[in-house]
Amino acid sequence: MILQHAYRIVLITIFSAAAITFVSLMFVRAPYGRYTRNGWGPMVRARVAWIVMEAPAVFVILIFYSTGTSMTTPLTIFILLWQTHYVYRTFIYPLLMRGARKGFPVALILMAMVFNGANGFVNGYHLFHAENAYPVSWLVDPRFLIGVFLFFWGMYVHIRCDHILRNLRGPEDTDYRIPYGSMYRFVSAPNYFGEIVQWCGWALATWSLAGLSFAVFTAANLIPRALSHHKWYARTFPEYPKNRKAVLPFVM
Ligand code: NDP
Repeated sequence: MILQHAYRIVLITIFSAAAITFVSLMFVRAPYGRYTRNGWGPMVRARVAWIVMEAPAVFVILIFYSTGTSMTTPLTIFILLWQTHYVYRTFIYPLLMRGARKGFPVALILMAMVFNGANGFVNGYHLFHAENAYPVSWLVDPRFLIGVFLFFWGMYVHIRCDHILRNLRGPEDTDYRIPYGSMYRFVSAPNYFGEIVQWCGWALATWSLAGLSFAVFTAANLIPRALSHHKWYARTFPEYPKNRKAVLPFVM
């Protein structure tokens, strides 16, 4: 009962935070990566930051998974999808990144940890504790099939585009260059586009408010940052391809 109450409150908080985040990021660029600047308190290395801030997403959902009452095949698939993404983002991506000695504000790490904990909580609670048993027949439901397809396609796009960015730099290099290839033909931030598509797929496959809250928050977080990146590229490189959009191919 207490958990159910907490679930509702956290879910409403995530939707509200998404609206606040979207509006704020249209005016203030999150101070990491190319927008790193003083005035945001102590910093740690970016590699450490990514591991620490994403870790709650790996572990919080595992608590719900390991204490869940029923376990159907769709639920097993959901935990595998979630952990496939978060093992990549928490452990593989930071170990591979270039220019990882850059500073990353501790304040942002704390905010991200709170979000990842809350997100792991609502998704973990909904899937494994809320008695929304997904029957085996869910495996052939079009929402599940299309959702899982979008999840993997989005994941492929953002991992591929992370890889292209990484290869623009040498091991200790922190310079920026124009990325080409794959979905960079269409947009300046295809890694963000892939991540948004992936969590829209998750929302569809789980057909849940918890999944939807994650997709909405991801878009609210990444669309303003993609718009900033797009303007930054155009300002920084006179030869930047004019036909690229920011994040949604042919649209924005
Ligand atoms: P960016 O695209 O800004 O940067 C990704 C990496 O590539 C960084 O190491 C960056 O270095 C480097 N890089 C970026 N552009 C260039 C360039 N032109 N030349 C050389 N190197 C470059 O992504 P973020 O750091 O914002 O995010 C990383 C990943 O995390 C993304 O895949 C994103 O989708 C995901 N993410 C998801 C969120 C969510 O809400 N679900 C929130 C935030 C991120 P540097 O750091 O030095 O700029």
